[in-house]
Amino acid sequence: MRIGAHVRQDGDPIGFGEKLGADVIQMFVVDPQSWDKPKPHPLTAEIKASPIDVVVHSSYQINVASLNNRLRMPSRGAVAAQAAAAAELGAFGLVVHGGHVRKDDEIIEGILNWRKLFERQQDKGGFAVPILIENTAGGNHAMARHFDDIARLWEAVGDFGAGFCLDTCHAWAGGEELLGIVDRIKAITGRIDLVHLNSSRDAFDSGADRHANLADGTIDTELLVEVCKAVGDAPIVLETPAEGVAEDLAFLREQVG
Ligand SMILES: [Zn+2]
Repeated sequence: MRIGAHVRQDGDPIGFGEKLGADVIQMFVVDPQSWDKPKPHPLTAEIKASPIDVVVHSSYQINVASLNNRLRMPSRGAVAAQAAAAAELGAFGLVVHGGHVRKDDEIIEGILNWRKLFERQQDKGGFAVPILIENTAGGNHAMARHFDDIARLWEAVGDFGAGFCLDTCHAWAGGEELLGIVDRIKAITGRIDLVHLNSSRDAFDSGADRHANLADGTIDTELLVEVCKAVGDAPIVLETPAEGVAEDLAFLREQVG
């Protein structure tokens, strides 16, 4: 089983991964709160040559579902640019949050914007790496919080080869039961390409997105272990608070290898 964690992109991401004993690392390619354009990483050759697998998480500003042109247009550009930067690092995918529309907007409009993202990029030869759409925790106008909305999203984007990233904290806080979740999501998407294995600081269906270390959160660790066992060969990435990541990783190694 390939297990690892999100690591800092500045400095030596592979070195951080090695120190943790990770098989896989996740990193940003820009400051995640910014609209910066990705620059080549100084350690590109090392990252690409390393046996540690790499996946890139896109920046938080991105919302390709938005009905606001001034947000959606730069979001489309940022996804393409960050996918290209991910390919430079040899990453196997770019994680993008499902995004949301405003409260007076229809979810289906946001879903159609996701479809347009793929349609337009197809004309340019597609994205440089697979796009992995991640479920999110909050809001009532999210594309990928409730699984019935994910089903509608997948009808629109599944044909384009979109991948799926399952975040356990987001599912729990979003109000989706973790028991049997791997089968339920696979029945919709046909695939899980990556797991973000996180516990939550908040209650089930709270709508809050606050990750916790596995031993400290509100999610029963047995449920988290079950997700890892059920998911087959999809890599597992911890996005838990840095001070407890090594312990979380050791726990997973002991439970699932
Ligand atoms: Zn996540």
